[in-house]
Amino acid sequence: MPKLNEHYQNLKESYLFSEIAHRVARYMEANPDKKVIRLGIGDVTLPLGDVAIKGLHEGVDAMAQANTFKGYGPEQGYGFLRDAISAYLARNGVSVDADDIFISDGAKSDTGNISELFDTDNVILIPDPVYPVYVDSNIMNGKKITYMAGNAENHFLPMPEKNIHADIIYLCSPNNPTGAVYNREQLKEWVDYALANEAVILFDSAYEAFITDPELPRSIYAIEGAKRCAIEFCSLSKTAGFTGTRCGYTIVPKELTFTAQNGKEMSLHAMWNRRQSTKFNGTSYIVQKGAAAVFTEEGMKQCQENIRYYQENARIIADTLTRKGIRFFGGVHSPYIWFECPGNQESWEFFDYLLNHAQIVGTPGAGFGENGSHYFRLTAFGSRENTREAMERFEKLF
Ligand SMILES: *Cc1c(COP(=O)(O)O)cnc(C)c1O
Repeated sequence: MPKLNEHYQNLKESYLFSEIAHRVARYMEANPDKKVIRLGIGDVTLPLGDVAIKGLHEGVDAMAQANTFKGYGPEQGYGFLRDAISAYLARNGVSVDADDIFISDGAKSDTGNISELFDTDNVILIPDPVYPVYVDSNIMNGKKITYMAGNAENHFLPMPEKNIHADIIYLCSPNNPTGAVYNREQLKEWVDYALANEAVILFDSAYEAFITDPELPRSIYAIEGAKRCAIEFCSLSKTAGFTGTRCGYTIVPKELTFTAQNGKEMSLHAMWNRRQSTKFNGTSYIVQKGAAAVFTEEGMKQCQENIRYYQENARIIADTLTRKGIRFFGGVHSPYIWFECPGNQESWEFFDYLLNHAQIVGTPGAGFGENGSHYFRLTAFGSRENTREAMERFEKLF
């Protein structure tokens, strides 16, 4: 009989989205005449821009001819895409060597898989609330987690506690689900703390393209010293609407080396390269062609048009909450609006209230961690029309 990885028993039931679907289905069955508006989804809805589509088509056509056909590609990703990403980062004021960029099928896989490079005996800091992948992937590997509380007092941006040691630190900025963004000084504090502790920061910048204030860092590498302490994960999912097309990238600088127990110097870049070339055979050539088109100036302009559409939805939601005097976070450099449940309701209770009285579906904050239990997430990924209608209903409710 196989001995199983019993750490899986320690995972909390992942019932968030299935429970939401279940409650919505039950409501719709009982109220077939009511129009339910879904503002709970963390998924884009606008189609890809034609620059990306053209890139994808070029990839498909290449597959049809013997002289351009592609078989297995480099595990780390094609040079043309790594160069295009490096150039994109440079336009945003960040210098990253194309050779330090690893192309993947998305940031979920990489943020989940990275935990393999680290021993169980580490102090791992993870914010609460946050994207659940960091927590679950560490639990699967039998790791112990120390949670950093995000709350209204720290604007959902936990900061390092100087006298507490950490080895591994997860940060997500702009944050899912709170929409909170670290500024330059705050990220510098994290980088200084990581360097002082010889810790590594695992920085998820999946929403960097939503940042409109040029003063806010879009990459951890905008901070001096970060290449010696940080890995960055990014994705085309929210930037370019690639949630279904699948492409992401992870930056592991060659500067990231640590001394092993036996005194040997180990490079995280070399380890990740070995891990990927052993367990991953690359993102499809076709998708990488589409992704490279996204990173051209023209391609990014189209992405920004879609992002601006979502940001306008976010503004409509934020304005409504402001008028109603409901305290919220995010909604500016992020597609997420995170607010206190009115009347201090528990988040699932508020979910039912909003569904029953306004037919609006959102996401209960409890699904992202204990500190979310009296908060609620709405997303800007709906259509303009639905967002407006939902907010008209919301306006009448409170
Ligand atoms: C959506 C999202 C991602 C992107 O995941 P993909 O696998 O690239 O689609 C990564 N991190 C966070 C926090 C997200 O919300």
